[in-house]
Amino acid sequence: MAEGVARARGAESFRAELCAVTERIFTVAVPKRKMSRSNTRSRRSQWKAAPLTLVTCDRCKARKLPHTACPECGTYAKRQVLDV
Ligand SMILES: [Zn+2]
Repeated sequence: MAEGVARARGAESFRAELCAVTERIFTVAVPKRKMSRSNTRSRRSQWKAAPLTLVTCDRCKARKLPHTACPECGTYAKRQVLDV
């Protein structure tokens, strides 16, 4: 009987601990109020398009996006990786 109670308490404390850990992991900040239209629009007024960064292909000297295979000659890191 006493053993059963101890085991039940163990499960209870384990559950409490699990709840505390879960709460710590999944607790996120939640905004208290709706953001005003003005604030939203002020924030969005700073969004702007950035100019593309282009690099020159080692083999064919074409302009291409960095860290991508060259669309002109199909090489990446001096290896042929695309059928062109
Ligand atoms: Zn190229």
